[in-house]
Amino acid sequence: MFTIADLRAKYLSCETTPQEVVLKVLREIKERDTEVNAFLAVYDDALAVAETATKEFAEKKHLPLYGIPLAIKNNILIKGKKATAASLMLENYTATYDATLIKRLKEAGAILVGATNLDEFAMGGSTENSAFCITRNPLDHSRVPGGSSGGSAAAVALGVVPAAIGTDTGGSIRQPASFCGLVGFKPTYGAVSRYGLIAMGSSLDQAGPLTNTVSDAEVIHEVMKGLDSYDATTITSDTYAQPVLKEHYTFGVPRDFMKGEGIDADVLEEFWSHVELLKSLGHTVVDVDLPLFEQGLAAYYIVVQAEISSNLARFDGMRYGLSVAGDDLLAVYQKTRAEGFGKEVKRRILLGTYILSSGYYDAFYGKAEQVRSMMRSELNSVFNTVDFILTPTAPTPAFKLGEQADPVAMYKQDIFTVPVNLTGVPALSFPMGKVLRGGISLPVGVQYIAPHGQDAKLFSIGKEVYDARL
Ligand code: GLN
Repeated sequence: MFTIADLRAKYLSCETTPQEVVLKVLREIKERDTEVNAFLAVYDDALAVAETATKEFAEKKHLPLYGIPLAIKNNILIKGKKATAASLMLENYTATYDATLIKRLKEAGAILVGATNLDEFAMGGSTENSAFCITRNPLDHSRVPGGSSGGSAAAVALGVVPAAIGTDTGGSIRQPASFCGLVGFKPTYGAVSRYGLIAMGSSLDQAGPLTNTVSDAEVIHEVMKGLDSYDATTITSDTYAQPVLKEHYTFGVPRDFMKGEGIDADVLEEFWSHVELLKSLGHTVVDVDLPLFEQGLAAYYIVVQAEISSNLARFDGMRYGLSVAGDDLLAVYQKTRAEGFGKEVKRRILLGTYILSSGYYDAFYGKAEQVRSMMRSELNSVFNTVDFILTPTAPTPAFKLGEQADPVAMYKQDIFTVPVNLTGVPALSFPMGKVLRGGISLPVGVQYIAPHGQDAKLFSIGKEVYDARL
């Protein structure tokens, strides 16, 4: 297993250097990513960065990510690199500045080795919506890696990088982590700056790590988080109550929420054995009622489409990326957007525009926002009695390429992840077990949800329950 912690130890004991490691990483991506297609671009100039890091070992070795090779989802801006969002609209768009989180990763010593594939503009749950190529699950090439951060997950699962960065609007870090047997973390909304992220749903988007261990995810999150004057929604360490770490915790299981259709029986079995594991470690597990969580999918797919339609209005053939000539301004808009956007993106813009149009706004968008705020109160009151809420991360293991052709079936995959983004709380996913499909044993993840600002508590329990058993 390729981890940040091991690599760091090897640097500190002078067993290897960033130069040696990055040379190998770049070669391995080229040799081993031929069928999986995790990467959209490989950054050969990472080698020069690694050479400098190697020379500056004495001054830089204390940095938390000194010499650590990272892969970055291609909807995050890196100065001088293409930021395509896996869309024809931005196929030739080069970022003119670093996203805040990229700046922080670089300052912490990380070396960015490549850009990873995603569903176009992060819309999807399988990475089949990319305009450029589909990404396959490294554990079974006939299956999807999940999405939309499927390229980031596949890069780590392939073993070519120890960690990758993804974005999560409705589950896009946690679900691919579950499908690829990794750790995935969605921070409290506002913990990580969105400056330099290509926006999908601005009230939902957060960036986070995909790694092999919880402690690696924590190291990355600690580097990326924090107040940023370029993103007014960023929070500080005193925005929310500080987490109190305990030896034993109480976990709440929304039992009724898990009775819904489409949840595989063997995934539930793994879930209940995870509950037994928690009890054997001395934790308490109780049932909780979260009746509104069942409305989560409906509310999410209204709020997100509305925000998408408004965020993507900026792609007009004038300001960024693709511009298709036309007889007048309207024709330029129409042709550019007709050619530049793929099917799923168009579907969402149409739905979002409808939802926000006069006469329908109150019935759809207004209602969804009401449900959202009621979900937040419901969740807060449950958090008066439990430390964490526990669910499976996804209702199934990785599905076959092409299996979820119906968009609504694909949306239903997000049942357990979207309530977390709607309410803005943090959640951690890590492998809880394996299930057999076609003779191959596939990983499935468990999701721990904590109250706002209690990200550190998730890392602490995750290290106890997952890392300690590796
Ligand atoms: N699958 C969800 C959607 O398509 C989540 C996407 C995401 O988190 N970026 O909206």
